Amino acid sequence: MEAFETLESNVRSYSRSFPAIFSRARGSIMFTEDGRRFIDFFSGAGTLNYGHNNHRIKDDITEYLSSDAVVHGLDMATPAKRDFMEAFSSVILRERDPRYRFQFTGPTGANAIEAALKLSRKVTGRQNIISFTHGYHGMSLGAIAASGNRFYRAGSGVSLSGVTFMPYDGYLGLGFDTADYLRKALMDESSGVDRPAAILVETVQGEGGINVASKQWLQAIQATAKNVGALFIVDDIQMGCGRTGEFFSFEFASLSPDIIVLSKSLSGYGLPLSMLLIKEEIDAWQPGEHTGTFRGNNLALVSATAALNTYWRTSTLSHGVQRMGDLMRRRLETIASEYANTFAVRGRGMALGFDCQVAEIAEAVSRKAFGKGLMIERCGPIDQVVKFLPALTIDLETLNKGLEIFEESLAETLRSWP
Ligand SMILES: *Cc1c(COP(=O)(O)O)cnc(C)c1O
Repeated sequence: MEAFETLESNVRSYSRSFPAIFSRARGSIMFTEDGRRFIDFFSGAGTLNYGHNNHRIKDDITEYLSSDAVVHGLDMATPAKRDFMEAFSSVILRERDPRYRFQFTGPTGANAIEAALKLSRKVTGRQNIISFTHGYHGMSLGAIAASGNRFYRAGSGVSLSGVTFMPYDGYLGLGFDTADYLRKALMDESSGVDRPAAILVETVQGEGGINVASKQWLQAIQATAKNVGALFIVDDIQMGCGRTGEFFSFEFASLSPDIIVLSKSLSGYGLPLSMLLIKEEIDAWQPGEHTGTFRGNNLALVSATAALNTYWRTSTLSHGVQRMGDLMRRRLETIASEYANTFAVRGRGMALGFDCQVAEIAEAVSRKAFGKGLMIERCGPIDQVVKFLPALTIDLETLNKGLEIFEESLAETLRSWP
């Protein structure tokens, strides 16, 4: 690790949580340069929903590369982009009404969020954005302004504005309906909250601690957006692409967002690809008004199309996510129940959080787990939640093995806990 400690900036972070040199990966296993193997329950923070180097996707990109097809072409028209948009329309959007248009943004999720916020402000002529406590939307100035984490916000070095934070579902305890509070604050002409251009929400907060919004809450938030003339934006960057079972994480609540933001697992292969789905009637952009050199990278579009064709033409993957998600939840709840009421388990589909309440416990557990061959990340306001995001394509044996390592790591941590 010496080269990384002396040559790479202090800003590096995952090489600290997972101190090893990773040279190869396949499915749910990562291999180190010195021949060790790790089960990956982290999946590039939700970027590798179909596993590492998925061979059912890989063939299409190797073939594309060897044929000298166009890899980079700004946002010029290519067969790769046409095939992707047609496949996405027929496999995912189907006869969804109203219709959506595709906007390929720069390659990061943050850039797609910037585009969504810009478009909302342009369409409504308003500035304010409603975002939620513990929300995370990326690191560029507009996106970080809409993110709650104080450490990240402070890192921006300038004052962040244009966003009003409202309590997420459950933030004020079970008896308090925060959707009702939002509705009241936005309908009241003297609440002090400016009329928003958009309400920006995650259906499950990935970085914020695997906080799950209910169907009723999400529907109420969408209704409020409509009532006050704000756009309703779902940031599905981490929870989309099948993580919660269905392709979009909001399908269970039958939502119809004005803008849907996708990135992370969209390319299906860990290649950078981000986009917005915009309802046709709000596509108010002037040509070239939001540009970027790496929009809609063709190689990523090819792997994205292969992922759609391989996994979304039938419901096999989707059912698998429900089944394995239930299995994970039951196992984690059983583990939690062995320690009275100390821990909480939350999540939907194959996005689960084990809330240790105490940051040091979560830290020790994930460190011990790494020592036993499991990569697992933490999230939440003080990194107190152990976050389970295995690939959706993981086999049962590997899934159970990973859960077993977690259980042992927790038991060992608590045995020596003061
Ligand atoms: C990762 C993430 C982002 C930011 O994406 P980047 O590619 O890191 O810029 C935004 N929103 C959510 C919900 C995310 O998980």
